[in-house]
This record gives sequence, C-alpha cells and structure tokens, in this order.
Amino acid sequence: MARNSILIDVTKCSGCYNCFLACRDEYFDNDYPSYSAAQPLNDQFWMQIKEIERGSYPKPKLSYIPTPCMHCAAAPCMDAAKNGAVYRRPDGIVIIDPEKAQGQGAIVNACPYRVIYWNAEKQLPQKCTLCAHRLDQGEKQPRCVESCPTGALVFGDLDDPDSAIAKLAADPRIEELHPEYKAQPLVKYIGLPKRFVAGEVVLQDNPGECAQGVTVSLQGGGVKLETKTDLYGDFEFESLQKNETYKISITASGYVARQIELTTRKDVNLGEIVLEPNN
Ligand code: SF4
Ligand code: SF4
Repeated sequence: MARNSILIDVTKCSGCYNCFLACRDEYFDNDYPSYSAAQPLNDQFWMQIKEIERGSYPKPKLSYIPTPCMHCAAAPCMDAAKNGAVYRRPDGIVIIDPEKAQGQGAIVNACPYRVIYWNAEKQLPQKCTLCAHRLDQGEKQPRCVESCPTGALVFGDLDDPDSAIAKLAADPRIEELHPEYKAQPLVKYIGLPKRFVAGEVVLQDNPGECAQGVTVSLQGGGVKLETKTDLYGDFEFESLQKNETYKISITASGYVARQIELTTRKDVNLGEIVLEPNN
C-alpha cells in the first residue's frame, strides 16, 4: 500500500500555468484506455490555478492555488458512483473508470472541491488521475510536477519515510484545502493564503529617510512574531488567522514606542506610522 500525492507550496507558485498547460498537453485528444478518456478542447481544468486577491492598493497581494483532484481518502465521488465507477488504487490514486462512469452525472456534483468535469460529448465525468498511466510505465512524476519551474509541486508516496514528500509533510505548516469537507485529501498544502498585516514606519524628525531596521512585533492568537522594517521602512506579517485580535508594538532606539491593536476581519494595511523622537 502507498499514498501517492502532491504537496503544493503556495508560497513558491508564481502562477506561470506551466502545470495547467502540461496537463492539457498530456490529456487533450489523448485516450489512455482504462485510465482516462481524451479531454475535449474546452471546459476541462484538471489542474486548476485559483487566483486569490488580498488586500488593496497600495498593498495588494495575489496568490495562486494549484488545485488538482485531492485524491481523498474519504472521497464523496466514490460514494456517489454506481457499479464501482470510481475506485481507489492500492497506491492511493482515485480513478474514474472511463467506461463504467458513462452517464453518471451525479459523480460530478458529489465532489466538494469541484474538480470533476463533465464531458458532454462522451457523457462522462473526468478529472486528474495523477498521471497514473505514466507512473505505471515507470515515470517518476505526473506531468504537472515535472513542468513546474519553481519546485512548488512535490510528488511522492506519503507513506515512504525516505521520500521528499513525506519529509515535507512533517512540516507543522502543512494544511488541507477545505478541511471542513472532511474528505481527508491526500493532496497537502503549505502557505495557503490567510490574513496579512502591513505598514510603513516613518521617523517624525527625518521624514525624507526610510526608517529601515525598526523592530516591529506582533502578539495574539497564540503567536508572537517579530520583524524589522525593510529598506523602505515597510513591514509585514503573513499567515495570520481571520477575525483574530493582535497587538502590534513598534520600537526604535531614541523614539517613543507605538502600540496598535487590530482585528483581522480583513487584511490590514496600517499605512504610515509616525514615530516621535524621545525628549
Ligand atoms: S477531490 Fe473530488 S474528485 Fe478528487 S477524490 Fe476528492 S471528492 Fe473525488
Ligand atoms: S507550474 Fe508550478 S509555479 Fe507554475 S502555476 Fe503550476 S505550481 Fe505554480
């Protein structure tokens, strides 16, 4: 037994869409009998790239969340399928049988992640197979993973303690996408976008100079973080919880310290924070 999967580091994803294109190249107009029927030209996104916008001018952020089938251990698509039309292989990969699944539209609607697509011409639900046909021929990676130029996608067996993916999966930052679906996805994530707090420190007696190296600390929600302002006097705290209250402290030698309390109902840009000199 094994649990083949992809670990996706969102912080490394540049949104280049190489993985999406490699997937299309592999499956458009290509039949892999018993694994998958050919993808039609339109409306199939077996590797979706979800674009998430956060914050607002002048501190906007754009994150990309590559989203294939999650190959769930408790897969609702399997429950919805008749005649064993969706099944799990011994290596953990969930496959839609391209013959048995014909006409079974209910399989599309059963997936809470919305990663199954209906092929109207063939009357067939279709989705990512983790390139099972390639793996069975001895290839080491799905096409999407092979094509990623940034290392944002890592493929392997979660149950193999020597694999890169198993080592990365021990990272306490590992998360599931939508754990509330309770589908036990094998695909894991690092760095899913959450709330961020940003600001810019200005020294009152030196407004023309950027306040580099000022200490900014954040406390709340069970975390205590500290950073320094950068070359432009800017600072930022990422991966904060939603609707949590945080206290920010800004301290610089020779200046009156500032304390700010905020709640992350949305991403927060504190704007310019002016430090007055001590005296
Ligand atoms: S993500 Fe959707 S299609 Fe994939 S295994 Fe889970 S329920 Fe099935
Ligand atoms: S190929 Fe890699 S960097 Fe490019 S969109 Fe896909 S996951 Fe992101």
